[in-house]
Amino acid sequence: MRREIELKLTPAEAFDPQRWKQIAASLTGVPAGRIYHLRPLKRSIDARHKVFFRLKVELFIGEQFPYSEKILIPAYPDVSRRPPVIIVGAGPAGLFAALTLIEQGFKPVILERGKDVKARKFDISTLNRGERLNPDSNYCFGEGGAGTYSDGKLYTRSTKRGNVSEILRTLVAHGASEDILIDAHPHIGTDKLPNIIASIRRSILDAGGEVLFNKKVTGLIIKNGRVKGVTTGDGNEIRSSSVILATGHSARDVFEFLHNQGIMLEPKPFALGVRIEHPQQLIDSIQYHIPDRGPHLPAATYNLVTQVEGRGVFSFCMCPGGVIVPAATAEMETVVNGMSNSRRNSPFANSGIAVAIEPADWKEFETAGPFAALNLQQSIERKAWDAAGNSIKAPAQRLTDFMEDRLSVTLPENSYNPGLSSVPLSGILPGFLSSRLKQAFRDFNEKMKGYMTSEAVLVGVESRTSSPVRIPRNEDTLQNPQAAGLYPCGEGAGYAGGIVSSAIDGVRCAMAIAGKSSV
Ligand SMILES: Cc1cc2nc3c(=O)[nH]c(=O)nc-3n(C[C@H](O)[C@H](O)[C@H](O)COP(=O)(O)OP(=O)(O)OC[C@H]3O[C@@H](n4cnc5c(N)ncnc54)[C@H](O)[C@@H]3O)c2cc1C
Repeated sequence: MRREIELKLTPAEAFDPQRWKQIAASLTGVPAGRIYHLRPLKRSIDARHKVFFRLKVELFIGEQFPYSEKILIPAYPDVSRRPPVIIVGAGPAGLFAALTLIEQGFKPVILERGKDVKARKFDISTLNRGERLNPDSNYCFGEGGAGTYSDGKLYTRSTKRGNVSEILRTLVAHGASEDILIDAHPHIGTDKLPNIIASIRRSILDAGGEVLFNKKVTGLIIKNGRVKGVTTGDGNEIRSSSVILATGHSARDVFEFLHNQGIMLEPKPFALGVRIEHPQQLIDSIQYHIPDRGPHLPAATYNLVTQVEGRGVFSFCMCPGGVIVPAATAEMETVVNGMSNSRRNSPFANSGIAVAIEPADWKEFETAGPFAALNLQQSIERKAWDAAGNSIKAPAQRLTDFMEDRLSVTLPENSYNPGLSSVPLSGILPGFLSSRLKQAFRDFNEKMKGYMTSEAVLVGVESRTSSPVRIPRNEDTLQNPQAAGLYPCGEGAGYAGGIVSSAIDGVRCAMAIAGKSSV
């Protein structure tokens, strides 16, 4: 017999699987010896009053567990002699497209402008020391894409749970902890992600696919409305009748060559704001209602949203126990984002606070047509660079000083390695954005008493939340209407946001090439 029940556990019990069977036995009255197996299904924190965990489990009573428990890398078929499909970009969309193409009997050929995940780490370290930005190898570009040196949060608003769980199982097969299959808010951490990405690459290579690094795609080969391949920065042409374009939201040069080759692009609403950092201990005490979270509770997170003047303002990519990182992809632009390791154990909690940007906000740039939203984004990033003294330092201001429009005389201790420069952020952000942020911070302080504090620092600018450009595609075939065989894919094309939804979009594009639906 099988039975699903929910266990209410203390933080210590929640991470001690040995205790779960005993607690289930005493809750159900079934002797522990009759419970042959206990399968955890979902674990979440309930911190509304006293903090405890809810763990949903399936009990196998007097019945053996019928599945093999270990999730293994599937036996992918040999595709070395199968028809090649070009994938531009080795982010989540590109990598999951590649695995799916292999399952469907195609040979993926991934072209990636950046370096492999290990070599990329050196460029990221150089950047963190404030020394040099490599425009092809940074927090956004390189193997694994933008999600590699991140928090690795794996939640998505996608309602297609089956697809989500397939993505998570593939990550587990390639080395992620099985915890991601049960946690309500799963995350991997930047210390674990590179090995998982390298393992996915090995699966692709072992099956006969190709992964080429330092291969920047500089154009498409299009004949009579059909894509025939791509050109690369080293002067070569690579041919295929199907090209998945999964280049992410920061590949501005890709938008440019598409436009120059006559592919119609559209400006797209996105979101822009600042990153805020608090002491983690403060966020813990607000969220858990206790002064010290102790050894078992994870660093507390939050999710805030409000409406100001009809626009959404929301916390974005919150990184508990994390650090703020420089995420620009070109010189003379300042962009920040956040990441954390698997244990989320830095003393800081950071989060993007972003304001929804819609067509009325980019009126000033209207003459730029499809680049109007992108030009607004870039102009703010350049102002941030100038304001911080033309350096990789990021402009920053204490939250309370921002609210009062005064320069911060000092800045609090913080996690941003390249260094902060005290600057009034209202001089960088357009007026409508500053005023919406200010009202949002007042609202957030109502929801989380103590959020508004001089200990919190705002760091500019959080501008790469999603793509400011959409590359159109036909809803049924997922192909670009002007170039048959071109599959705009993932976040950069405007069809996904975040690691999991980009991976799902990669699967969809691969399935479309195979003539199948993945939904
Ligand atoms: C610091 C940081 C932290 C983040 N944290 C999270 C998180 O915790 N959870 C989450 O869900 N999301 C997070 N994100 C967002 C997430 O990384 C993206 O949503 C996701 O990676 C998008 O996937 P993608 O495959 O569409 O594009 P990307 O991951 O951007 O990959 C695009 C790839 O294309 C390559 N490329 C670009 N141009 C070319 C070209 N011309 N030729 C060849 N290759 C090219 C790039 O080098 C890159 O590898 C974070 C992003 C950053 C920057």
